[in-house]
Amino acid sequence: MSTTRTRFAPSPTGYLHIGGVRTALFCWLFARKHGGQFILRIDDTDQQRNVQEALEPILHGLRWLGIDWDEGPDVGGPHGPYYQSLRWKWYEEAAERLLASGHAYRDYARTEEVQAEREAAQREKRPFVASRRFIAETDADARRFEADGRKAVVRLKMPREGNLVVNDLIRGPVDFEWAQEQDHVIRRADGSCLYHLASTVDDHAMQITHVIRAEEHLSNTPRQVFIAQALGYELPQYAHLPFVAEPGSKTKLSKRKLAKYLKNREFAQLLEHGRRIADRIGVPADPEAFNPVIVGFYEKVGYLPEALLNYLALLGWSLDERTEHFGRDQLIEHFSLERVNRAPAGFDPAKLSAFQQWHFNQLGTEQKATLALPFLQRAGLVPAPAGGDAERLVERVMAAAGDRLRVAGDIVAFDEFFVPDDQLLYDPKAVDKRLRKEGAADLLRKYRERLATLETFDPETLEHDMHAFLEAEGIQVGQIIHAVRVAVTGKQAGLGMFDALALLGRDRALRRIDRALVLT
Ligand code: GLU
Repeated sequence: MSTTRTRFAPSPTGYLHIGGVRTALFCWLFARKHGGQFILRIDDTDQQRNVQEALEPILHGLRWLGIDWDEGPDVGGPHGPYYQSLRWKWYEEAAERLLASGHAYRDYARTEEVQAEREAAQREKRPFVASRRFIAETDADARRFEADGRKAVVRLKMPREGNLVVNDLIRGPVDFEWAQEQDHVIRRADGSCLYHLASTVDDHAMQITHVIRAEEHLSNTPRQVFIAQALGYELPQYAHLPFVAEPGSKTKLSKRKLAKYLKNREFAQLLEHGRRIADRIGVPADPEAFNPVIVGFYEKVGYLPEALLNYLALLGWSLDERTEHFGRDQLIEHFSLERVNRAPAGFDPAKLSAFQQWHFNQLGTEQKATLALPFLQRAGLVPAPAGGDAERLVERVMAAAGDRLRVAGDIVAFDEFFVPDDQLLYDPKAVDKRLRKEGAADLLRKYRERLATLETFDPETLEHDMHAFLEAEGIQVGQIIHAVRVAVTGKQAGLGMFDALALLGRDRALRRIDRALVLT
């Protein structure tokens, strides 16, 4: 039996879409599961722009997720080149063979003539079929048409009767009537070849055994099978994946409908959360690039690739009714096309967040701190290199923050621990409400004196001492605790107050209280 070979064939669009990467993942999992190869082939036949630049985010996104390719850009391979724009001669040859065998023809019809035929079919409510009136059977025909100012495209000469059954590995047998097919163009008048021809030729040349791709290509399959059979190729197996749908609907997820998705509360929260981090670390919140429909969004704000991978795997696939959490190796072990659904898989931002939280919680404090550090550095809160003290502080904040941190980038919300004491910003509302309240400054001053003499500065001792203070002053905890919090963090909310004090340590806490007292 031949080795399993799958391919992902993205166009260099400048971004990696959630739906696209889910296709790549399933191709990759299938190849890895069967000990085969995963090939990356760049579909740049239509490309106007700079291919490398538009490809980079796609390659980067795949690498970030750990979806590695055995053949393709950067790594090469025995069936290269892996850019379709460099493979014209293969397509050219195939087009000539199809012409020679009568499976394709040179069509000299003008665009307006084809259009008129199409409209006539529409008026008469019958399917459009090319009239084949301007076929050049001989070179003499061709010269005559050309003398008339006509140019030829090459069209497939599709069967007009009978049907084709494609045994799709996900959908089962799918029946296509040839009469519904058109004579598709495979080569334009300028000589350039089109997707159907290129893709079929390459799948054969690259020995692809399983064409696993998005559902929208199911309808393309008959014309590709026609080409493959005409060229005497062995057919690959086909598997068409259900598309990834918008949150809460059955329509295909699109990167352009952000405004619509923002009406979904969970989607809006996902983006909002990301933007808070992005603003702090200086990532432009450009909706073209910073968008939860695009993989780069997750990397930028500190999601774990394994969390996204796990979530993507369940967009259309499941092992059983129960198992949700998978690592990379388990996905490879369990993945099968039989367990891929036919129905669209809805993009569920809340579920994605929950997966992130779960995977993040699997990490130890030290690992989390390592992931968080670059965000603090980007926000200018910690120098690079950080030095041991800063690293330890990140770990301690991480430990104290516990579940409050969902992604590595969330660390920037705890900026108060990292800014120098004389640069701490005080929220003016918090100052008014908590520090300028009657009696607050006096109590804060007294509390400061106690702190100054406290031997041990850990959360337990601080809490114990607070009780003694409350008793001595005859006050309720609410009368002092908010003022202390604002004084040492500048904010009204954050970590537990004793944790915050302990993290800062005595000297920093006292310095901050002194600054706050000036504001009262
Ligand atoms: N470039 C095509 C796409 O991105 C590839 C289709 C295929 O897999 O055959 O949709």
